[in-house]
Amino acid sequence: MPSKVKSTATSPGLINQRCEKCGALRHVEPYRQDGNPDGILLCYFCSPDAEIDRQEARKPSSHYRWIILVDHLAEPGTKPGTNDNAVGLMGPHNCDPAIPCGLPFRMSDDDKVLYYEGKASRVGFEPLDDFGAPNAGCTIIEFLSHAGTWEVL
Ligand SMILES: [Zn+2]
Repeated sequence: MPSKVKSTATSPGLINQRCEKCGALRHVEPYRQDGNPDGILLCYFCSPDAEIDRQEARKPSSHYRWIILVDHLAEPGTKPGTNDNAVGLMGPHNCDPAIPCGLPFRMSDDDKVLYYEGKASRVGFEPLDDFGAPNAGCTIIEFLSHAGTWEVL
């Protein structure tokens, strides 16, 4: 494993000592453990902080979501949530469905034909890049501004 020991020469606050768990010579900090009120000295990699960071990294990607609410091309009777009727489709892949989407967007093609309307948690090209362009050839995404006008992104 590559060592990430920082130089202590210019950082008097950082002291490299041996981690009491892995034995590596690294910056260590005292962590309390049951039955050891003084704590033990652990490097970041062995600390509870690192485990929390690893759990965060495994959560659904980013804090971003978009959803299609109207599919102007959908054939009557087609199942929602499919490429033939995109109502309810969400992105990005594995996004957290609990993320609030408050920004209305709409996607259209070069001829200004409106294909999809939806909402996103922030302004971005993702609905177009991930869905509108590959699925229907959309080239334009517009977001509703605070002034109530549609702004081409
Ligand atoms: Zn360690």
